Order: sequence, then C-alpha cells, then structure tokens
Amino acid sequence: MVTSSTYDGPTRRVTVLGATGSIGRSTEDVLAHAPSGQFAVEAVAGGRDAAALARVAIHLGARFAAVADPSAYRALKDALGSAPIEAAAGPEAIVEAAKRPADIVVAAIAGAAGVEPTHAAAMAGRVVALANKECLVCAGEPFMRDAAAHGARLLPVDSEHNAIFQALGGRDVASIAKMYLTASGGPFRTWTREAINAAMPEQALAHPNWSMGAKITVDSAGLMNKGLELIEASYLFGVEADRLDVLVHPQSIVHGLVSFCDGSMIAGLSNPDMRTHIAHCLGFPDRVATRATPLDLAAIGSLTFERPDLQRFPALKLAMDALRQGGSLPTVLNAANEIVVEAYLARRIAFADIARLVQAACEDAIRRGEAGAPASIAEALAVDHITRERTRASLA
Ligand code: NDP
Ligand code: MG
Repeated sequence: MVTSSTYDGPTRRVTVLGATGSIGRSTEDVLAHAPSGQFAVEAVAGGRDAAALARVAIHLGARFAAVADPSAYRALKDALGSAPIEAAAGPEAIVEAAKRPADIVVAAIAGAAGVEPTHAAAMAGRVVALANKECLVCAGEPFMRDAAAHGARLLPVDSEHNAIFQALGGRDVASIAKMYLTASGGPFRTWTREAINAAMPEQALAHPNWSMGAKITVDSAGLMNKGLELIEASYLFGVEADRLDVLVHPQSIVHGLVSFCDGSMIAGLSNPDMRTHIAHCLGFPDRVATRATPLDLAAIGSLTFERPDLQRFPALKLAMDALRQGGSLPTVLNAANEIVVEAYLARRIAFADIARLVQAACEDAIRRGEAGAPASIAEALAVDHITRERTRASLA
C-alpha cells in the first residue's frame, strides 16, 4: 500500500466487497493513503472485471481476490501473476471473501447481488461498513434481526445515513423528533414533469455533484435513490416513516440532520466525497485522515433547502408508500426498480416508465396477496427473484 506516515495502534483487517466499483475505488484511496500499519487488506471481491480486481488486490496487498463470474477465473489468475494472492471465482467465492477473518467488511456490491455476501459477513459477526442499501431495502427486517443475533455492527457508509449516525452520537432514537435525509435534487431538479419524463440516459447520468455507479445515478435523477434511502434509514435506525423526511439541498454539503425533542437540530456536513464517509466507518470510533478537500463554508456562501416535489418525482412517493405499507413492498419496489433501470439504461423504456412500472409491480404484489413481510433472507430473495422475472416479462 502507498502510505504517508506510520501508525502504532493495532492493525485493522479490512475486506472490500465491490472493490472495483465507485465506492470500492474510494475505499482503495482511503486505505492506500492511511498511515502504514493502520489497515491490512484480507480480501477483495468484484463482479466480472478480473483485470481491475487484480489491480486493486495487488495495490492493497490483499490475501484473497474473488470474482463473481466463474468464467473470469483464468483472467484473474493471469492478471494476479506471481503476486501471493489466492484467487477464486463464482458466487460462493464472494461469500467466502465476506466470511474470511476481518475486523471490518466494506459492503459495496451494487444491487441485490450484495445481499447474500453482506448477510454472510453479518452472520459472521463482523463490523459491516454498509454501502449496499439494497440489503436493507430488500430484506430489512430479517437482515437487522440476523445481524443483531450474531453480534454484527452496521456502520452506514451512505452519506446521509453516515451524517445522521454521527449526529445521533449514540443517543437513543426515542429522543428524536425527526431525521432528515438531504437530496441534491439531481440533474432534473428544476425541469418540468414533461421534460423529466422524456429524459435520455445521458441526461440522467449527468449528476451535478456526485460521481457514482450508473444504477444509483439514475435512481438519484428520479429521487428513487432518496426513497430507497428512507427505507434504509428506517431499518438501520429503527425509526418509523413519520419521523423520516427528505429535504432537497442542491449544494450537497449537509447530508443528514436530526432534530431532537427539545428543538435542537444537529447536522452532518462535508464536501460531497464518499472517502469522508468511508473513512469514518473504517476508523470508527477514531478518525482517519483522507485526501478529501476540507469544507470551506465561506467559499460556498449559502446553503439552501426546499421540499421535494412528489408530482415531478413520483418514484420518491412510491418508495414512501412502500415504506409505510411495509411487508414485501420495499422488496418488490427494489427488485422491479433494478430491472426497469437496466432497461432504461439500455434505451428500451422512457424515464417516465421507471416509476410507472415499479408502481405496477407493487400493485401486482398486492393484487396477488403477496404483500406479506418476508420472514427470512431466503424469503426476501425469493420475492426479489419472482418480481424480477415478472418485471422482465412485462418489458418483453
Ligand atoms: P458500481 O456499479 O460502481 O460498483 C459495483 C461493484 O459491485 C463493482 O465492484 C462490481 O464489480 C461489483 N459487483 C457487481 N456484481 C457483483 C456480484 N454479483 N458479486 C460481487 N461483486 C459484484 O456501484 P457503486 O460503487 O456506485 O455502488 C455500490 C453500492 O453502494 C450500491 O448499493 C449503492 O447504492 C451504494 N452507494 C453508492 C454510493 C456512491 O457514491 N457510489 C453512495 C452511497 C451508496 P465489477 O466492476 O467487476 O462488475
Ligand atoms: Mg446516499
């Protein structure tokens, strides 16, 4: 690892799931620039890009590298060359990476593919730095229950939840009046409903403040991402829908706020740079220096806030409804959304179809009498699977 100074505390062993993605690369940057000896990397895992995975594994000096696509094994082996890193491939190898002995597992696989490996890390009682919000949206209740039963600790990487976690400072949620997650409003914040409905993928992918993977960027453009995050927050902090709210904040400096029963409000601020939130989790409860630019509030000048417009951003309303109704609806919403966002990126459907088709999937689950709460991760994944199949069929 490239490091700046030395460290004389105990070394923390880290595993990074989704090491080649946007969060993975930010994690790599934090680890590579932390003082020598503060962190050691146990395992890295990725989807199919063997060359990128081998590069990060070698850079971070990992012991184990796992790629989900079994056909990528040879390429991973070749790219690792003579480096002393064990290679493995296939979905079971990703779960093995998640379970290897580590002090902290960064869960940054995109989408529902991250549920099983992240659950495996939680079942092994790890500290989990959770970026994969789909874990809690798809399987919130069983995931939280299993994590608690196996002594796992979840630290939120998602910027809004990380800010709220810091603002809470370990206080009991009973003293909270409301939690606010901020949303930049994305590229369509000031657009008319007609213009948003007709937006092309390159317009949805042009996020004004954050650089992220394609799926979450499209989710952000329609505010579905904020809806998924409300559901994530509800399970993570154990707070019901009535005490969760969204504020549109175009500067993306304030990420989350907590108002307490005495009228006080505490906010979490930083520049929009995921390295800050990742470092907070990796070092918790201590702080780790990063290369993120320090916040200069005088240079920013003003911070503004507005209420979200649920007419122009119906996906946020759908997620709010799914959270209130509970049961399998968050699972259905998440699964249908992944399929329709994929179809949108492939230019098979219009932006307006994303919310329309997700709503149809939720209504279909209710009509079929399948809106009951999944009792286990397996049941949640079964709902996820059938919803994907039905949503794909509705697109054909
Ligand atoms: P990316 O699409 O950039 O990266 C996804 C990562 O997951 C890649 O490393 C990819 O590997 C890997 N992957 C995909 N499928 C599998 C699989 N089946 N098994 C193992 N690894 C797999 O996504 P992001 O980094 O943007 O997001 C990751 C998660 O973090 C998401 O859940 C997102 O919601 C959340 N998040 C992201 C934020 C951000 O700023 N990016 C902010 C807050 C939360 P490969 O490259 O080989 O396909
Ligand atoms: Mg977020």
